[in-house]
Amino acid sequence: MATHVRICTHTVLERIHPSLALRSIHDERGRIITRFAELVEKHADELAVLESLDAGKHPAVTKAVDVGNAAGSLRYFAGAADKIHGETLKMQGPFQAYTLREPLGVAGLIIPWNFPTTMFAIKVAPALAAGCTMVVKPAEQTPLSALYLADLAKQAGIPDGVINVVPGFGPTAGAALASHMNVDMVSFTGSTEVGRLIMEASARSNLKPVYLELGGKSPLIIFGDADLDMAVELAISANFFNKGEACVAATRVYVQDSIYDRFEEKLAERMKSWVVGDPLTDARVNQGPQVDKTQYERVLSYIDQGKREGATLLTGGRPCGQKGCYIEPAVFTNVKEDMVIAKEEIFGPVMCLMKFKTVEEAIAKANDTRYGLGAGVVTRDLDVANRVVRSVRAGVVWLNCYFAMDSDCPFGGRKMSGFGKDEGMQALDKYLAVKAVVTPLRGSPW
Ligand code: ADP
Repeated sequence: MATHVRICTHTVLERIHPSLALRSIHDERGRIITRFAELVEKHADELAVLESLDAGKHPAVTKAVDVGNAAGSLRYFAGAADKIHGETLKMQGPFQAYTLREPLGVAGLIIPWNFPTTMFAIKVAPALAAGCTMVVKPAEQTPLSALYLADLAKQAGIPDGVINVVPGFGPTAGAALASHMNVDMVSFTGSTEVGRLIMEASARSNLKPVYLELGGKSPLIIFGDADLDMAVELAISANFFNKGEACVAATRVYVQDSIYDRFEEKLAERMKSWVVGDPLTDARVNQGPQVDKTQYERVLSYIDQGKREGATLLTGGRPCGQKGCYIEPAVFTNVKEDMVIAKEEIFGPVMCLMKFKTVEEAIAKANDTRYGLGAGVVTRDLDVANRVVRSVRAGVVWLNCYFAMDSDCPFGGRKMSGFGKDEGMQALDKYLAVKAVVTPLRGSPW
């Protein structure tokens, strides 16, 4: 019935004037992306279990956070699809000029294994809204959700050939995308080392624009006036959420000397109730296994290195359980800024606890890194907060919170954490080409 009514209306409008019957392509695009979001929400349980099987993630958390964010991003950019405008320009002389914002072409989207569903959506959604076609290369460790999402996209009515998922290894499938002459841009999330390779591949091939969301070693600065319980909880979630497999994890925790001892004590006490295990079979589990053996061994070798360098383990730091890639979350104290564990991204449950005295010292320490992805500040003093927020070189600063993200909130780093934003309206720009159009003005005032 609904279809019939629509067809009749269409025909009547067409008889009045053909252009009235055309439904805007942008409007239609938005509708289809919304349908995609609805299907993602409908299949949230399946997606969460797939992520859990692939990456050891907690299914309930994954359903709420990863899948929730993915659907949110699709809805957000569905709304943006019919709001992509150019500008009217002011030319010197008798000319009329304006810009068109056109789809850039074929987008290469290379995504990592830590948040596969969310990463898929935050790159695919703006690319779809912009009108691009795309080749998605999921990480070799976690290809299942991308394939499932591609099927949902088809069910939503996204035409064949628009989203192409090509699972494969980085040095082959990923590198082929980065160096392909017919790929018009690459949006990549992963390690700083591979980000560099992707830029090199672009430079050697067709100079495609490249956007990189890379590693981090983010600081969390806790001032002496902080609510101690809240600060401890923040430090734990900012480090151990998703098993520490988060580029923006706040792995350098700086605590003001006035509260340092009490903070350390409370943190050690709180970690006693932290449960490591299989999140698929035990709902009480806070932390599942690392994504694979390679990553597990890499994290353990960093923990060994920390011990060798003279840092002290306050808690954890050992393999856990009889089988599987489980690690007791490690909290290191007596950490010096020049130790490897305080400098390099570990990508696992390893927190470095350090002390500071003054605001200036906290800012200097926070900025003493080649990375610039995120930062956290915990204080009730507005002046201190404003000062730190404006002095820290990072893509996002969380004040009295951490990890709060939203489709409207641009995400992406500075320095060697990369450039370009996922999420927020700025993400659309990556997938659009601006074309200036100039035409002479004859017989009109200018
Ligand atoms: P991680 O170190 O977190 O595993 P990587 O940067 O190695 O992150 O991987 C992130 C994504 O980049 C994955 O999809 C991976 O397959 C891909 N990748 C790895 N090496 C390359 C490469 N040389 N060129 C393009 N993509 C790559």
